[in-house]
Formats: sequence, C-alpha cells, structure tokens
Amino acid sequence: MMEYPLLLRGILERSRKLFPKKEIVSRDYTGIWRYNYGDFYKRVCRLANVLQEMGIHKGDRVATLAWNNHRHLELYFGVTCYGALLHTLNLRLFTEQLEYVINHAEDKVIFVDQDLLPLLEGIKDKLPTVQAYIVMTDSDELPATGLNPVYSYEKLLAAAPDAFDFPEDLDEYTPAAMCYTTATTGDPKGVIYTHRGLYLHSMCIGLADSLALSETDSLLPIVPMFHVNAWGLPYACTWFGSKQVLPGARPDPATICKLIEEEKVTLAAGVPTIWMAVLAAYRQQKFDFSSVRGFVCGGSAAPKALIKAFDEEIGVPILHAYGMTETTPVVLVSKPKSYMLDWPADQLYDAKAKQGLLVPGLEMKVVDEEGREAAWDGKQIGELWLRGPWIAKEYYKDPERSKPAFAGGWLHTSDIVSVDKEGFVSIVDRAKDLIKSGGEWISSVDLENTIMAHPAVQEAAVVAMPHEKWVERPVACVVIREDWKGRLSEADIISFLEDKVAKWWLPDKVIFVDEIPKTSVGKFNKKALRQRLEQA
Ligand code: AMP
Repeated sequence: MMEYPLLLRGILERSRKLFPKKEIVSRDYTGIWRYNYGDFYKRVCRLANVLQEMGIHKGDRVATLAWNNHRHLELYFGVTCYGALLHTLNLRLFTEQLEYVINHAEDKVIFVDQDLLPLLEGIKDKLPTVQAYIVMTDSDELPATGLNPVYSYEKLLAAAPDAFDFPEDLDEYTPAAMCYTTATTGDPKGVIYTHRGLYLHSMCIGLADSLALSETDSLLPIVPMFHVNAWGLPYACTWFGSKQVLPGARPDPATICKLIEEEKVTLAAGVPTIWMAVLAAYRQQKFDFSSVRGFVCGGSAAPKALIKAFDEEIGVPILHAYGMTETTPVVLVSKPKSYMLDWPADQLYDAKAKQGLLVPGLEMKVVDEEGREAAWDGKQIGELWLRGPWIAKEYYKDPERSKPAFAGGWLHTSDIVSVDKEGFVSIVDRAKDLIKSGGEWISSVDLENTIMAHPAVQEAAVVAMPHEKWVERPVACVVIREDWKGRLSEADIISFLEDKVAKWWLPDKVIFVDEIPKTSVGKFNKKALRQRLEQA
C-alpha cells in the first residue's frame, strides 16, 4: 500500500471540496457571524499567508488566547496545516501559569480575543519569545492596549491573498497542536498532538459506536477550544462537513439553550456543570430541543440523576465520555450494547453513568498496586493505563515528570477504576491530588501549601467535596498552632489566600480540625479525610 501521511491538510481540503456550502455559525461580540466551509477555506489561506509574512517557520509555536469562535477555528487549521504548532492557551490559568506556559512553549506570536487582552498586558514584559500580538475583534478599531507590536487580525487577513499551497510533505508525526494541563503540584505540563494523532482521533469520533459524528450533525462545542482541542470536535466536524455552532465568549445557559433551538443543534458537548445549568434553564423555560440527538458529557463524572433527568424531562440522551488532555481526549464512551437495552431502566442508567467502553483504536489495562491486572468483575480496582495512536508519549520538555507517567510505553492515568463483566469502566477514585471544579483543575497540594505558609497554621489538607453546580469544590481542613488557638477565623484564612490564588480556587469552607489523618507512611490520608467530612 502507498505511503500516505495522515495530515490535517487532508481534513481541510475535504471540507473545501465537498462541503463548501455547509455552515459555520459563530457567536461573536456583535452578534451571530455566519459563513460556510468555502469562505472558511479562503480565510484559512489568508491566515497562512499572514503567518508566512510574519516570518513564522515550520514548528514555531503560535499561541491562541481565545473563546470558541470562527477565528479560533481558522487558527486550528491555518496554523497546523501551515506546519506550525498551535498552542491553545487556557484562559483560566493564573497569571504566573500563563507566563510559564508561554515561555516554556517559546510562543512566537499570540492571537488574542479583544476582551482577553488584560490577561496578557500584566505579563507582557516577561515574555521574551513573543514577537507580536494579533488582536481578534469585530470592530474596525483596535482596543487601546499596552501590548506591542500589536496588529488587527481582520486587517491582516484582508490584505493577504486567499490562496495558499499547504505543504504536502510534512511527516505525519509533526506536532500540530499543544495544550498544557495542570499538575498536582508545580508548573503545568505540556502535551503535544501530532497530525497523525488528531487525524486518527477525528476518525474515531465519526465511528457509529463512539460519537457517530457526521455531515448530518449540527455541533455545538461548549467545551472550550483551549481545553484538549474542544475534545477534538472542531477537527472532526470540518472533516465530515458537519455544521459548527461556536458559542463565543462566556455563553450563559440561556444563550446555550437559544443556540441549540435556533441553530437546530443535534449534538453538543460540555462538562457536567454546563448540563446541570442547561437543565435548570430548561426547567425555567421549555426551549425546543427536538433537533438534539445527544449531549456529550465528560471531563468529570456524569451523575446518574442528571442522565435520568435529561432522558425523562427533555427526552435527550446524555452520552457520557471520558478522556484526558494526554489522550486527545476520547478514550471511553458509555454507549450501552444492543442487548443491554432490554435491561430494567435503573440498571441501564447505572451503566450509562459509568465512564463506558474503550473506543476502537486504543488499548487499556487496569493495574493494581502490586502490578497485577485487575479482573473484570466490577469489584477489583487498579490504575487505568492506556496506549494507542492518540495517546501522548511524554510531557513536553519535561523528562522528569514524563518518566513515571509514561513508564513502559503506557500512559499511567492516575485514575483508579474497576471494569465490569461487560467491559464498562467506572472511575472510582483519583490518585492525582487535584480537584475538578466546573471542568478546570485546582491543585489541592498547591492550595494547602499556600495555606500552610500562614504563620498560625500547623497543617492543612485540601480535599474535593461534591458540589451541585461545580461538581467538586475545595474544602480546607486546617490544624492551628497551639499558641494561635481561638485567634484565627475562616475569614482570616480566606483573606490570606485572596492575593495568592485565583478567586475560583478559594476554598468553599475552611474547617478547623485537631489533626489530619495520615497514612502509614505519614502522608495526608485524603480518602479518610473525605470520608470524615462526608459523615460530619
Ligand atoms: P483533563 O486533562 O483536564 O481533561 O482531565 C482529565 C481527567 O478528568 C481524567 O484523568 C479524569 O480524572 C477526569 N475525567 C474526565 N472525564 C471524566 C468522566 N467522564 N468521569 C470522571 N472523571 C473524568
């Protein structure tokens, strides 16, 4: 068989040739922007010409700090098909983390949405590799900014030719995109996605037994385009010619519901927090969701009650999926097997609430603490290990942290799981000490170290507690030094943290305790602590 590199260029070319009339809808700052894959292609070509003009070379890192909108989609293809590396910056990172990831990736230029400029203005003097900022705005005039040099995306595109010869001779293992993910402690870790990985992952998203994405879909990715490539959906949609509905900056639940209704969305994707909010909005006002065939819910466990409520109140199935930044991300999809549909309703909901079956193309094993593989009996537990063509092989420029995480050619996920007789995986615990609040990570270790810097604090442990809206929120258990007893309040701890961590990291509660339970080796026993709190 002929050698044929799996490149994103092939995806772009197919949408141009086969689906020039299919629509891309973007909620911009000034309203709804509509165009089609034909016009999209021309703007992607213009963008590639702009990159060339700016002296961007193959392999250079081109960063985006942007919402889910059409310009961001153009960058998804313009940068990658040009041969450069798209670094999607997570706009929820702290300033210091943002500075770290830009410098670690050595980003050469940053494309930034108009309202996100302040995030960069505070660190502009600490970004030696960044040579230019390109502002993405609907307005003719650029907003006032201290960034320099600064250009208008629209003006640059308008002046560039609308044709470009995208390279056909790239190696399929060429890095195409990268994201950073929060580590238990220390700086964020970079993950590289190759053209090949993104291509095969997109193909998987189209499989009938994963998400069955196709030309007939109108897809609304609510999961941010800076978080694991919006779960790879923009790449897959473009390939299949699906309509894309991009929800723009800070979409609220009513806006999401309106977009679903007006754009006849068939499939949307987001974290449980989003679906909980959409359910609440729907209960207030009955939107027309008759076009919808499913809502993909991942990033945190989809609660059984949520799946049931969507089924019974709205008649829309929740498609529960699991993945990680390191896995591009789709790994597990909870789609019942045909014969399971005859199961009693409650048993079926239990199955749908599991993280699901491994998608074709990947391999997994579940390994216990002694290194033995756990039996698939729904009881034995172990760490989920993964390998396959869209699983990362290392953290970017980080051999020390890569070694344990990718030992033996498998990704060690730190997710503790059981597998039932049907092969459905359930996540039962998380070995990594992180809290997932509304789809984004909080490092409990960093938070507790910051609390322990308070002179009155002897020990502090931070754990995740279930939360109705955010799924998890941090709760801090604090032991006060003898000589400070009675002189320190919850408010004192919170105000101590206020200028040290992002607002959304502040613990929901500070509980003063006499001691923190410890494991046999003297580490905080978070499991025991969580159980104590749940029982209290
Ligand atoms: P991220 O890299 O930020 O996408 O987070 C990946 C992690 O989120 C996984 O390792 C899990 O701990 C968690 N996660 C993702 N999807 C699910 C899910 N469906 N259920 C439970 N946890 C999940």
